[in-house]
Amino acid sequence: MEGCIFCRIVARELPADILYEDERVIAFRDINPQAPVHVLVVSRKHIASMLEPEARDGALLASVLEAVAMVSEREDIASSGVRMVTNAGRAAGQEVPHLHFHVLGGRMMSWPPG
Ligand code: AMP
Repeated sequence: MEGCIFCRIVARELPADILYEDERVIAFRDINPQAPVHVLVVSRKHIASMLEPEARDGALLASVLEAVAMVSEREDIASSGVRMVTNAGRAAGQEVPHLHFHVLGGRMMSWPPG
């Protein structure tokens, strides 16, 4: 989608520190990390959020979960604990309207989120 930051990263038009990719998702470091490890797992296809009907795709969701697990292992946060979160819509704090999961770790997390 024209003008979408994450579509431009998927198309390699913008740089990113890519850690993992498969045919459905790409994982790269967040530019403004909120934890020692902060990676985004992003669908290659432009889907606005997890609330869109297109997100109800078993193969896509399997790739997202595979990438979350892979990144957690590679970044050495799997054993200590991982916060995986997706924002959907403005009130939830979604800034980039392109489906992505945050993978955060390397510090203690609080609950509830702000
Ligand atoms: P959200 O608020 O859930 O939509 O999250 C969007 C995330 O994308 C934020 O954590 C931003 O720091 C991150 N972000 C925005 N632009 C880039 C970029 N060019 N490369 C990596 N992460 C980005």
